[in-house]
Amino acid sequence: MNLSSPITDIKGVGDKLAVLFNRLKISSVDELIHYYPRRYDDYSIITKIAELKPGPATVEVELTNIGGKYLRRGMHLTEAIARDDSGSVRLVWFNQPYRATSLRSGTKYFVSGVYELKYQRFSINNPSIELKKDFPLNTARIVPKYPETKGLTSNEIRKTLNQVLPQIEDYQESLPVEIVKQYDLIPLAKALLLIHFPKDADELEAAKRRLGFEEVFSLVLASQLNKLELKTDKSQNIQFDQQLAKQFVDKLKFKLTDDQRRAIWQIYLDMDSEHPMNRLVEGDVGSGKTVVAVMGGLMVINQGRQVALMAPTELLALQHATTIHQMLKPLGLDKSVCLLIGSLGAKQKKLAAQSIASGKAKFIIGTHALIQEHLDMDNLSLAVIDEQHRFGVNQRQALNLKAKSMPHVLSLSATPIPRSLALTLFGELDISRLKQKPIGRKPIETKVISESQYDRLTDEITKRVENKQQVFIVCPAIEQTSTTNKHTAAKTFELVKKRYPKYKVGLVHGKLSSLDKNASMQDFIDHKIDILVATTVIEVGIDIPAATTMVILSSDNFGLAQLHQLRGRVGRGDKPGICYLVHDDNVTVGPRLKALETSNDGFELAELDLKLRGPGAIYGHSQHGVLDLRIARLTDTNLIIEARNAAKYFVSNGLNLVQYEQLANRVSKLQKLTNLN
Ligand code: ADP
Ligand code: MG
Repeated sequence: MNLSSPITDIKGVGDKLAVLFNRLKISSVDELIHYYPRRYDDYSIITKIAELKPGPATVEVELTNIGGKYLRRGMHLTEAIARDDSGSVRLVWFNQPYRATSLRSGTKYFVSGVYELKYQRFSINNPSIELKKDFPLNTARIVPKYPETKGLTSNEIRKTLNQVLPQIEDYQESLPVEIVKQYDLIPLAKALLLIHFPKDADELEAAKRRLGFEEVFSLVLASQLNKLELKTDKSQNIQFDQQLAKQFVDKLKFKLTDDQRRAIWQIYLDMDSEHPMNRLVEGDVGSGKTVVAVMGGLMVINQGRQVALMAPTELLALQHATTIHQMLKPLGLDKSVCLLIGSLGAKQKKLAAQSIASGKAKFIIGTHALIQEHLDMDNLSLAVIDEQHRFGVNQRQALNLKAKSMPHVLSLSATPIPRSLALTLFGELDISRLKQKPIGRKPIETKVISESQYDRLTDEITKRVENKQQVFIVCPAIEQTSTTNKHTAAKTFELVKKRYPKYKVGLVHGKLSSLDKNASMQDFIDHKIDILVATTVIEVGIDIPAATTMVILSSDNFGLAQLHQLRGRVGRGDKPGICYLVHDDNVTVGPRLKALETSNDGFELAELDLKLRGPGAIYGHSQHGVLDLRIARLTDTNLIIEARNAAKYFVSNGLNLVQYEQLANRVSKLQKLTNLN
C-alpha cells in the first residue's frame, strides 16, 4: 500500500465503507490523510479519580464488578466499577450489551468520557475505553472530531487512519529545508500525523502551525511569482511630464489631498518603465479616485497613446465622461475624450468605434461595450478599471487584450482590502490607499433603528424633503421570493408613495431596462424625484449633492462593506448626511450593524467583516474558494507575515520550484486562480 492506493486497500475498508468515504470525497490513502479534523476534544489529561470534577475526563484504571442487565422496555445497562490508587467511580453504558463480555477485570484501561450526575449518582456515562497497552485512539489524548456523514463516525474515520500510520511517514518534506529550519516548523510527515493524533495541545499547535504556514506560504508564493512574471512582460514606457502635471493641477477646482498626490506619483513611477504597472487604488466612496486615474491617463494621452477607463454602469461612464471632459478642457485636450456605451445610437456607436480604432480618441470611457470583440483600439497603453470588484477576471483580461502589448493596469476600488488579504491573495498588486477624505467632507451620521422607530420617522423625512433634500430608500430585493423578506423594492415603492403623497417618488432596480434605469437615476440627479426607492444598483459611484438621507431596510441582509459604500452616496454636498440602518423588529442587533454607528473607516469595517463573516462575505465566493485555507486563519497576522517573508526569501534567492514537486503543483494552481491581471 502507498499514498495513491485506493482506500479499499486499507485493512477493514470494504466496498460498503468505501462508498461512505467517497461521499466525503475520500477515495485514496492520500485523500484520507488530508481529511483534517473539524475540532478536537481534549482527553489528554489523566485525572485521579479522587480529583474528578464534572465535565470531560480521562482516568487510568482497573475494572471490577463488570455486569450487564436488561431494564424496563428492553433498555440494557452495562455497569462496572473503575479504580485507581485514589478511589473508584462508576462507569455506565446504555444499550451496549457487548460491553459486559468484552471488558476484563484486573487489566489496565484508559477511560474517557463525561463525568456527570445522572439518576442522582455521579458516574462516567457511555465512555470510550481502551487497553492501556494499545496505542490509544479515543482516550487519554486529544481526540479529533471529523466532519461525518451518515453511517460514518469520527471513531470509524480515526480507526481507518490508524491503519495508515506507516504511509504517513512516506510523505517527503514539501518545503525547502532552510525554511523549515528558519521558521522552526515540524516536518510535513510529522505534522500530518499530529493533526490526526496529537497527544497534547502542544503537539496539535505544532501541527497546525506547520500546515497553516504551508497554506499561506504557497498562496503568497503564487502571487509573488505572478508579480515576477509580470515583470518579464514588456509594455509602453510612459514618460512623466512635470510641466503638464502642474498645469492640470493648477486648473483643478480643488486641492489634491496628500494621499492623492502620493498615489499619482506612484502611478507615474510605475508607468515610467517598460514593465506593466499593476496598481490598485483603494479608498472609500468619495475619496477622489477618479482624478487620480485621470492624472495617470493624462501622461498617456500626452504621449499620443490611448487610455481606456471601464466602468460597471452606463450612468457612471456618463458621469466620468462629463467630469473628465471638464478636467481636460482647460488644457485643450477635451477633444480626445470619447464615450462608448451600449445605449448610444447605432450611428454614434459606429463613429466612436472608428475614432477609437484610428487613434483619434485617446481618453476612452465606457462600459462593457469596450470589450466587445469587434472593437479595435489603436494603441492602448493604460487600462483603468473602475469599481474593480464589479468585473470578473475574464472581463479585465479582455480589456488588456485590446492592447498590442501588455498595458499598464490601474484598478480602482472602494472595497477596502484588509491587511491580511492584501498580503496574501492580492500580494502581487501594488496598492495605493486614499485614507484622507477631501477637505470639507462631513462624516455621515449613522443610526441603527428598529422598524417601529422607522415608522415614526415620517415627519423627519418630510421635513428634509420640504428643505429640498433628497432621500434614498434601499431594499435588499426587488420582488418577493421564498428566501427574501418582505421589504421588496416593488412593495416599498407602493408604500412610500402612499406615505408621502405630496412628493415625487421614483423606483430603480436591476430588472429595469438600462434605459429606464438611466431615466430614473437621471431624474433623481436632476431633482425631479424627491425620494428614490432602490436596490443596490445605486451602489456604484454617482455624485448627487442634494441627497442627504438614506434609509436601508432589512439592513442586516447586507455586508458591512456594502452598507458602508451605500451610505457614502449621501452627504456629498454641503449638508451633512444621515443614514438609518433599519432592522426587522424580530432581529437582535449584533455587533456588525453597531460597528457602522461608531466607525466611518472602511478599512476597520472590512477587518471586522473578515473576522465575523470570513473572506467570502467581502470578496464573493469565487475568490473565497480560491483561498482554500483549511487550517490557517486569515486573522493570524503573525503567521501571515512569517509565511510572506519565507516566500520572499524563496523568490529572491532564486530557489527553483522544480525541486519541490508537491509545492509546485499547489502553487501553479494558485497562480492561475489568484492572477488579477
Ligand atoms: P470616488 O473615490 O468615490 O470615485 P470621486 O473621484 O467620484 O470619488 O470623487 C468624489 C467627489 O469629490 C467628486 O465630486 C470630486 O470632484 C471631488 N474631489 C475629489 N478630490 C477632491 C479633493 N482633493 N478635494 C475636494 N474635492 C475632491
Ligand atoms: Mg468612483
